[in-house]
Amino acid sequence: MKFAITSKGDTKSNTLMHKMKTYLLDFDLIYDEEQPDIVISVGGDGTLLYAFHRYTGRLDKTAFVGVHTGHLGFYADWVPEEIEKLVIAIAKTPYQVIEYPLVEVIIRYQHGGRETRYLGLNESTVKAVDATLVMDVDIRGQHFERFRGDGLCVSTPSGSTAYNKALGGAILHPSIPAIQLAEMASINNKVFRTVGSPLVLPAHHTCTLKPVNKLDFQVAVDHITMLHKDVKSIQFRVADEKIRFARFRPFPFWKRVHDSFVAD
Ligand code: NAD
Repeated sequence: MKFAITSKGDTKSNTLMHKMKTYLLDFDLIYDEEQPDIVISVGGDGTLLYAFHRYTGRLDKTAFVGVHTGHLGFYADWVPEEIEKLVIAIAKTPYQVIEYPLVEVIIRYQHGGRETRYLGLNESTVKAVDATLVMDVDIRGQHFERFRGDGLCVSTPSGSTAYNKALGGAILHPSIPAIQLAEMASINNKVFRTVGSPLVLPAHHTCTLKPVNKLDFQVAVDHITMLHKDVKSIQFRVADEKIRFARFRPFPFWKRVHDSFVAD
């Protein structure tokens, strides 16, 4: 089996990375950063997001596992004290794979029929470059509302505990193939109106944002923010691809929610 390890880059994570690499090589596993079967992320959720984006081209062939060197993460749920156990599990046991849905983002531009496509593990957000974001929101090809406000966030079920939660969105179990649209400070008064509640869309529905006046937007996909100019539309849906996590022990999603947000 071929493995790769990504580290957050701090001393603690780097030391742990080197230790795990040595142990796994001792078990005759092959270190391959280009085509790994398993990617171990050492750091936090941000490190796993980074690893995910590095290997989005081979999601069907790569499984991820996260070790946290700070606080308990949603994707990084192994602690440094457990790495010997984890290494033996990786080397010796056929692991179970669980799959979580992703959000697909397709940005189309005004000229030339050009489009770009991204996959998000947590969410994608759209904000104006300056001032208020004004966009028409279509759901399943039908006009739904004209949004005015700070921005819009489209999250995955596993990302529903991240930015989405801070926006008042619901926590969705990752076994539900859906995306959630949440508002960031919408303007609501006698003149302007939005639904005001987060919307959960099933896998076969699309949500498309269309510019009303300005054509340039800040689009973030997880931790990566990009400026897109001359935008014609931004379409979101549940991606066909999924992220695969290597599971060596049960750690139910609701327990992770409890331990992260309620009590340890
Ligand atoms: P970061 O390291 O500052 O991460 C922010 C926090 O989000 C960390 O505590 C991390 O553990 C947590 N986190 C990440 N994914 C999570 C998930 N799925 N469930 C629960 N908590 C999660 O920043 P980063 O590494 O650049 O991470 C980018 C993420 O930060 C984005 O995907 C977004 O979800 C999140 N974010 C949150 C807010 C907010 O809550 N207001 C604002 C911007 C970005």
